[in-house]
Amino acid sequence: MKLTLEANRKIKLSTLLTGLVATSVLCTALILLVTSYTAEKNTLLNSTLTHNYSKANKMSITVDSLFKSMRESLQSTARFLEDETASSSGEVQLHLDLAVELNRYFNSILWINEKGDIRNVAPNNIELRGSTVSPQITQSELEARKPFITAPYIASTGRLIIVIAEPFFTKDGHFQGYIAGTIYLREQNILYEIIGGHGSDKFNSYYFVVDGAGHLIYHPDTSRLGEDVTTNRLVRKLISGQNGMGVVVNTRGVEMAAAYSYINETGWGIVQQTPTTSMNEQLIDNVKKQILYMITPFVLLLLLSMWLAQRLVRPFVSLANIVNDFSEGRTISLPSLKSHWNREADFLTKTVVLAIQTIQMNNNQLAHRAVTDPLTGLSNRRALTELMDDWEQDGKPFAVIVIDIDWFKGVNDTYGHQAGDEVLKHLAGTIKSLVRESDSCFRYGGEEFVILLPNTYSEEAYEIAEMLRVSTEKTISPVGQAVTISLGIAVYPNHSKSPEELFRLADKALYQSKNNGRNRTTIAG
Ligand code: GH3
Ligand code: MG
Ligand code: MG
Repeated sequence: MKLTLEANRKIKLSTLLTGLVATSVLCTALILLVTSYTAEKNTLLNSTLTHNYSKANKMSITVDSLFKSMRESLQSTARFLEDETASSSGEVQLHLDLAVELNRYFNSILWINEKGDIRNVAPNNIELRGSTVSPQITQSELEARKPFITAPYIASTGRLIIVIAEPFFTKDGHFQGYIAGTIYLREQNILYEIIGGHGSDKFNSYYFVVDGAGHLIYHPDTSRLGEDVTTNRLVRKLISGQNGMGVVVNTRGVEMAAAYSYINETGWGIVQQTPTTSMNEQLIDNVKKQILYMITPFVLLLLLSMWLAQRLVRPFVSLANIVNDFSEGRTISLPSLKSHWNREADFLTKTVVLAIQTIQMNNNQLAHRAVTDPLTGLSNRRALTELMDDWEQDGKPFAVIVIDIDWFKGVNDTYGHQAGDEVLKHLAGTIKSLVRESDSCFRYGGEEFVILLPNTYSEEAYEIAEMLRVSTEKTISPVGQAVTISLGIAVYPNHSKSPEELFRLADKALYQSKNNGRNRTTIAG
């Protein structure tokens, strides 16, 4: 059976090994990347939340003390005015103007009388005097005679404002109304000066401030000021007085790592938050860097494994080729038996070499047996035909001597078949010992032998034949007496150019020897 290497459809061992190494390295790298990504993500999230929480807390403390200061400032204005209730409106105005100018807490300061009308306003250029305050300041707030902070609202001037108010009384306890400070949320104000303008970090973190009702009173996007953000879960927790942190989706649908802190003084709250997408960008950047670091060792590892795979596979491929050549009858050179560094390759090489050597030995034996006569050890009739054909093809002249033992049947009959065999062996030995080295001896069958003598003519062949005949006649055979032989000679190409015809002629000459009384040599006529 002929084996063909179906190279296209089968996977090469070297490809398989390299693929295996590449896959396992890739999988390991992937696992490492995912693990480190997850760990980094958690660390980054936790540190961002902690950072945001501490920032929100600090901010809350700042805003808290800012409001304390603001209220104190309003209270001190109130105290000043307690003594000056009787003062002229001009003096009051002057004082309020100075207060706005000096402390810079408020965009404006108002004196609201007990009926809710604006008695004085600073700076003086705001045409509000005499008008009633905004409907956002409720009657109940006015009547409560307690400090209050409004939610953001659009004032009659069209500005978005909040109002912080402190009640004030005369020394004898008469309620005089409120001293109120306003903050214009969308304009330059103290909140922006104190807490705004910190800029954002690399993760685009920012913060916003909500009032007690969940309206934005500070936000980097000023267009959102006044917006109700109570849909945000954190804002609801915040305005119920809680502090904390967590990941939350904000009112705009953006996921945020947010921390929140409640401001006691005002009932407001601060949320410091970082979009998780910008954290993810940083993480993905890190992953990209890690991949860059991995590429060189990965390529080196791949090249190394390809090289190793090639080296590992080489002995198997060469063995396969040797076995293939051997099975197709081509001449092969066996690999040396020196040991191979790979155990399996070493074992297989030695096994294959031994197997091939055994097969070669058996083949040689079989080939030898096929052309050898087992009894005498001479070449057989098949070898004779082959050699004659070869010489004929080469055009080499040669003589053929055909030998037949005389009366051999009688030997068998007298001494037994085994003794006859001994005589055959003995004669074979005699023939072999007497012919020239270049001559070839055959047992043609039964008690007939043939000698092929290259480059030999009739006379020379006759001499050799006679020497054989005489020697046999004079030698005691194993049966205790000499046997005689008859011989026939024919010469190529003199007698015939066909080996078959030549052999027939030699045989015919042999018969002539028999007919002429045996124990003689005859050359073909
Ligand atoms: P001739 O002189 O006419 O050749 O007489 P012969 O008896 O030799 O010739 P024949 O052809 O009548 O007999 C040949 C004998 O050789 C017959 C057979 O028993 C014997 N013979 C053939 N092959 C073998 C063999 O291998 N061993 C033995 N012992 N005898 C064999
Ligand atoms: Mg015979
Ligand atoms: Mg005979």
